[in-house]
Amino acid sequence: MTTPALLIQCPLWGFVPPISLAQLTASMTRAGLPARAVDLNIGLFHRRGAGHRHTWAWENNTIWLDDAVVADVLGAHDDYIVSSCVDPLPEDAPSLAGFSVNECSMRSSLHVARRVKALRPKAFVLFGGQAFAEPERIERCLRSGVVDAVALGDGEETVVDVARSLSQGRAPESCPGLRVLRGGAVVSTGEREPVDLDALPFLDYAALDLAAYDVPDNLYQRSLMIMASRGCIRRCEFCGNRAPWEGYRFMSGRRIYDEIRHQLAAHPGRFSELKFYDIVVNGDMRRIRELCELIIADPSVKLSWEEVNCVVRPEMDLKTLRLMRAAGCRRITYGIESGSDRVLRLMRKGQTAAMAERVLRDTHQAGLVATANFMFGYPGETEADFEETLEFARRVHPFVDMFYPSRTFVTMEPLSPMARRREELGVDDGHDVYWSTRDGTNTYPVRLARYERFSRLLKELGANESPGVNSSLELWRWSSLAQYHEQRGDARQARLCYEECLKLDPDGALVRARLARLKEAAS
Ligand code: SF4
Repeated sequence: MTTPALLIQCPLWGFVPPISLAQLTASMTRAGLPARAVDLNIGLFHRRGAGHRHTWAWENNTIWLDDAVVADVLGAHDDYIVSSCVDPLPEDAPSLAGFSVNECSMRSSLHVARRVKALRPKAFVLFGGQAFAEPERIERCLRSGVVDAVALGDGEETVVDVARSLSQGRAPESCPGLRVLRGGAVVSTGEREPVDLDALPFLDYAALDLAAYDVPDNLYQRSLMIMASRGCIRRCEFCGNRAPWEGYRFMSGRRIYDEIRHQLAAHPGRFSELKFYDIVVNGDMRRIRELCELIIADPSVKLSWEEVNCVVRPEMDLKTLRLMRAAGCRRITYGIESGSDRVLRLMRKGQTAAMAERVLRDTHQAGLVATANFMFGYPGETEADFEETLEFARRVHPFVDMFYPSRTFVTMEPLSPMARRREELGVDDGHDVYWSTRDGTNTYPVRLARYERFSRLLKELGANESPGVNSSLELWRWSSLAQYHEQRGDARQARLCYEECLKLDPDGALVRARLARLKEAAS
């Protein structure tokens, strides 16, 4: 049966239902427009088989930035891609193929869009998502020849508008909220007001096959994912996550509570945990308190809140944390990043080490599990600053349940304020992860060495270090060093590191392919 609109998620995404597809499908349904959600990410994962789980590990996401890898993985499953993303679209009438795109799904989305355009020339291909906070990406996609428009900002109303235009025989390029190519230039079709989050329809998880996410060792298998805010109250220098949104908008506590009640009733027995997809959950303390009070008063809502991203702020006091605990909150993740106030100021983190220490202690005392994220080798961080971070870890380890040292240490996230200041910070214009300072004092191996010292200290203290999400730490270490040397043009060192990878994972097809490429280039 054909459908006039497909909403597609390509790899890489996690082992959770893509929240954007659930939201967009709900908006289409409310507008009376038929649409089908296709999670190609999970579909390809199942077809590829558990032996390829490494390829889907989020810490290996750079794999999906390699055109050759994408062509290889997707090319091997072309029949599946065509049957799910092309065949459902009508051949003889306009239709919509909408892609939710992040940085790591950009290449796979373009690959699938190429197949759609080749086989359904009347389909209107619309890209949207957080990846497009970077103007250069918009242009690249539009000039690919297979993307008709890119939606910017909140996509819910734009998708509906485009689908309705197509169904009424009007030109979708005139809908506001898009960027299109006109006369060879990228132009705006007009701006669209941000949506009122309280007015959004409830997420349509019935549009996805939830059983497909029952993947062994999937931490989020029973998680109800919701996104109750957009943006952030802080402006950390290293952060690219907040770039897609201006300011901070949030659902009221009542609206979040209503969504939870709706999803529990719609999928009885499915969810035991609540996972906020928000980049910061406690941006507005009033809504948190309102939500907690509503849940506490309702014995039918029994969800354990996991991995709640919170900023360190004075209002996170013992009383508030106890209220959150009583409402089901179990795990809070804080971006601590450094134990040095000087580095925290460089980061514009909006917190001090003393404030972080107090919040971590109160979190523990309230009976919550605290996870603390750390970074290593922030531009300007000295050995003395790093020593302060080690000292901080010694002080706080009794009340930190899980340390999460960043395995990329400090990434020059393209959308972060820091990445725009590379020159000023003395950072070369090389790779976002494998960058160096021009004076050579801060390189990837220097940052790796700091991480390893931090990790050793945690072992000495008997503290827990997060093992990473889906793959072995040792494999990650050699694989990332190999990529670092490859990026720096040191093929010999890269080969040695890839060979170490193969000792740990002899079936590593991607590593073999990279090794073969290096050997071929050397011959
Ligand atoms: S790092 Fe966290 S607190 Fe800072 S801007 Fe990004 S989301 Fe906000």
